[in-house]
Amino acid sequence: MDHFEYRNGVLHAEDVPLPRIADAVGTPVYVYSRATLTRHARVFRDALSILPATKIAFAVKSNPNLAVLKVLAAEGYGADVVSGGEMERALAAGMPAEGIVFSGVGKTEAEMIRALEAGIGQFNLESAEEGLELAELAQRLGKTATCALRVNPDVDAGTHGKISTGKAENKFGVPFDRAADIFARLSAEPGLAMRGLALHIGSQLSSLAPLEAAFTKIGGLMREIRAAGHAITHMDLGGGVGVPYKAGDVFPQPEEYAAMIARVTADWGVTLMFEPGRVITGNTGVLVTRVVRVKEGVGHPWVVVDAAMNDLARPALYDAWHDFAAVTPNGQTITANIVGPICESSDTFAMARDIDEVARGDLAVFRTAGAYGATMANTYNSRPMVPEVMVDGERWAVVADRIVPATILSAERVPDFLV
Ligand SMILES: *Cc1c(COP(=O)(O)O)cnc(C)c1O
Repeated sequence: MDHFEYRNGVLHAEDVPLPRIADAVGTPVYVYSRATLTRHARVFRDALSILPATKIAFAVKSNPNLAVLKVLAAEGYGADVVSGGEMERALAAGMPAEGIVFSGVGKTEAEMIRALEAGIGQFNLESAEEGLELAELAQRLGKTATCALRVNPDVDAGTHGKISTGKAENKFGVPFDRAADIFARLSAEPGLAMRGLALHIGSQLSSLAPLEAAFTKIGGLMREIRAAGHAITHMDLGGGVGVPYKAGDVFPQPEEYAAMIARVTADWGVTLMFEPGRVITGNTGVLVTRVVRVKEGVGHPWVVVDAAMNDLARPALYDAWHDFAAVTPNGQTITANIVGPICESSDTFAMARDIDEVARGDLAVFRTAGAYGATMANTYNSRPMVPEVMVDGERWAVVADRIVPATILSAERVPDFLV
């Protein structure tokens, strides 16, 4: 459920008509609904409350906007970060260092030092090599790094190949059958406090079955490691719960997810950790765009909008679907291709799609753009960096400026040897 609804024929974000924002800020622009964000954060947290002990670390990469992180911090969320930059954002949003989990296969020495100094809650180690490096750094700084070992359970998440992370051929985690040995090896390191296992098998999962298979598998590994004499107090079950992008699609509800976990982990006796991203932020945002013109096509007309793959990369990257809707629909529909202005054929949002009839100058939205939207934006084709707005009831504010090409140009230099 979200708070983007038509009132008197005009699409609103909460109590604000979208044309008001588009006229003031320009397009394209991401618009987030604070009420939707809060609601999703609470629904997910409340669903998990049937489990004895939980910690939720929001996957910052899905939407790292500072205002978004502030809202989630106020809801008691920590952060799952995958870079030093994301860690700084979480800290800047007031998330306690203790609530930060650092994931990723390529943590650099500088990032690990900064994380140790900040006193983050947990490093999710993705290799023995990384663990040994971190142990050395921690000792040098006179600290102990609290860690979980990320295991690759070799389970097919059944999602798009580019967002699958839990098959043996993926780069993430340590191989399942090596994990017990690596855990034992790292447990002997004085700079590390190994306290658990972690996994994350992929994103936009449409079924709970692969998650259940992965959790069952890692539960067995937990028992094996305990039997070898090691304490395991925390198990990090990652993120990955998908959201419906197409009207009518049905996805697992947080209650079903929690019930499955309660069943699988009933006798684990640990604090369960979660790293949700998309399920929290996906529905909280739309990308507002204006139709530049409608161009005649050989088959269907081309609806050329002022948003492009640099603003919303998911269709180009993952053939992803985003519902498209007119802000002031006239009741007619057309079948059209929707494209951006970028000089690449991958700059295509939809082909042969039945959509609201739109004409030059009309406003429209791509829905469910709150996750992996603005966070992936770039300035390809020397386009501006897309701005972001947050709405709260009747109020709204720009929460990320449009960065114009002149600003980007001012950071470039022509070297002496060229003049
Ligand atoms: C991306 C990521 C997540 C979040 O995935 P969602 O599908 O957005 O829930 C969680 N954990 C890790 C380690 C990730 O890389």
